[in-house]
Amino acid sequence: MWDADGNEYIDYLCGYGSQLVGYGNEAVDEATCSRIRSGDLLDQPAPLMIELAEKLVSRIEGTSWAVFVKNGTDATTLALSLSRVRTGKALALAAEGAYHGAANWCGTNPFPELAFERDRILTFPYGDEEALGRLFAEHRGQIACLFLTPYHHPTYKPQVLPGPSWHRTARRLCDEEGALLVMDDIRANFRLHEGGSHLRFGAKPDLWCMGKALANGQPISLLMGRGELMKAASSFFITGTYWTSAAPMAAAIACLDEMERLGGVKRLEELGNALRVGLEAAGSDYGFGARISGPPAIPFLTFDEDPMLYLNQRFGAAMARRGVFLHPHHNWFISLAHSEEDIGVTVERAREVFAAMREGRA
Ligand code: PMP
Repeated sequence: MWDADGNEYIDYLCGYGSQLVGYGNEAVDEATCSRIRSGDLLDQPAPLMIELAEKLVSRIEGTSWAVFVKNGTDATTLALSLSRVRTGKALALAAEGAYHGAANWCGTNPFPELAFERDRILTFPYGDEEALGRLFAEHRGQIACLFLTPYHHPTYKPQVLPGPSWHRTARRLCDEEGALLVMDDIRANFRLHEGGSHLRFGAKPDLWCMGKALANGQPISLLMGRGELMKAASSFFITGTYWTSAAPMAAAIACLDEMERLGGVKRLEELGNALRVGLEAAGSDYGFGARISGPPAIPFLTFDEDPMLYLNQRFGAAMARRGVFLHPHHNWFISLAHSEEDIGVTVERAREVFAAMREGRA
């Protein structure tokens, strides 16, 4: 990545995760541009929409239909509406600090004028099975759905992987209540498993929300669901002018193929592991409790001695000055365009930065 002043960076934010096979990937760009030349947003959806839906349905176990939208927020908001329509109930549950989009029901805007949308969203600490069970018990007969992410990726905090029984318990509680389990896989998408990142942790959802890296940065997200929800999904009016745009669908198909060709989930994990081991060792050599949390393909660095993240800010700023772009508060993303050499350079620069921080020079 080059900034406006011509400085070059190895980028670990990757367009907030939307880049999976790398900026300017030729196969994805060619598929996108060629579709634009032959017609992108027309009167009707292109047959390509069916091709993509079938490709995804055959990839993601349990799904039998897909609705294509633009942003992740469209998909999660649609999942909430569909859950309410299907169950006739109003409440939804979501983990504290989980991000499901920027609509009024899930956004973090503090205005009381908007808060009534959030009155029906109840929160629990991620991974706390007892707290979740209590919420279900206290609101028996009123819960339309439970929103979960495959693992917990809050901003500003170390990432949390689910315990061995977490997703099983969530499934059981939803079944007992007759609530739908919505998997918000928008952030991790296919980065942790070819069948959707939730499979890495054995989750069994009813509805799946995906987006971000689906088409390597082209605008498309989606809601998928189990067969028995298809009727409810087609029973209420939804639409968007750009939802049927074909170019991002061509990009999504090319992106899935490219991901496999470039080594897929396994390669992302290998690169992520190399980064994790290198950074933690470099930190520890200079006396820092620098710790990578989250799956290696979607890492985040925190300092044990500084939960307020001031060290993250110093580290991020000093790394940026040395050509490595890292977000100090938000998880990072490995892409298939990263190389072992990039990881090596990153770790080398991190050593310089840890040394400089130790000596008060950064
Ligand atoms: N859910 C999760 C888990 C996300 O990470 C995001 C985006 N950061 C969203 C929903 C919302 O997606 P979008 O920004 O495309 O609306």
